[in-house]
Amino acid sequence: MKYQVDHDLHIHSGLSLCSNDPEQTNERILSYARENNFKTVCITDHFWDESVGGASEWYSSQNYAHLAKAKPLPQWDGINFLFGCETELRWDMTLGISENIDKFDFIVIPTTHFHAGNFTMAPEDLKDSTTRAAAWVNKLDAVLEMNLPFHKIGIAHLTCGLIAPTREEYLQVLSQIPENRMKILFEKAAQLGVGIELNAASALTFSPDEADIVLRPYRIAKQAGCKFYCGSDAHHPEDFLHSKATFQRAVDLLELEEKDKFILG
Ligand SMILES: [Zn+2]
Ligand SMILES: [Zn+2]
Repeated sequence: MKYQVDHDLHIHSGLSLCSNDPEQTNERILSYARENNFKTVCITDHFWDESVGGASEWYSSQNYAHLAKAKPLPQWDGINFLFGCETELRWDMTLGISENIDKFDFIVIPTTHFHAGNFTMAPEDLKDSTTRAAAWVNKLDAVLEMNLPFHKIGIAHLTCGLIAPTREEYLQVLSQIPENRMKILFEKAAQLGVGIELNAASALTFSPDEADIVLRPYRIAKQAGCKFYCGSDAHHPEDFLHSKATFQRAVDLLELEEKDKFILG
């Protein structure tokens, strides 16, 4: 059976500082779920757990008390509205979640926030496309080596424009990641049961001639037995407009079936 696009597990509400949109409410997210016949939606605002310490200035106010303002979440018959977060991986491979991890239904971990300056990246990682490609591998590897509840963890936007300052360099970085390294990483990811994200914001928007480069990691992940979930990464209501069509396009291009779906549990 073909993969059914029936969920969105990566959505920012107005509580994320980069959204800060009074229109991006939980009620608006719920109506997006209803409009698209989704069974499950999850809000994943940016989060750095105060119990970890060492937050950047931007993250310091995005603590548990801030995210918990979203609760209680509005409910609707047949829709599972979950409480999650998008945490952060610091340049020294410290993960921004610890004591509060049990309070979340789902946790998105981004390994590709290469744009966030020296909080997420060491300067030597950003020298050129070769060092960026190595950082892509090392960051994913570091997360997969952690002791985490992988059954409720997703790896966000493994491909996305944040990886390099220009489109050309971004595609170069993706091309430079060795096939065998990807294979080993995704085999480990499949074994751990972590979800791999189909991200509608920038990860899966590409022109036809870029398709093979951008889809290569997902094809290798599928081959390795990884499971996939959809995430719009929406920050504003208008981001909801094309997300389902983008997910559908990815599902078609990757020929995903229901057995390839990440089931949160
Ligand atoms: Zn992100
Ligand atoms: Zn996000």
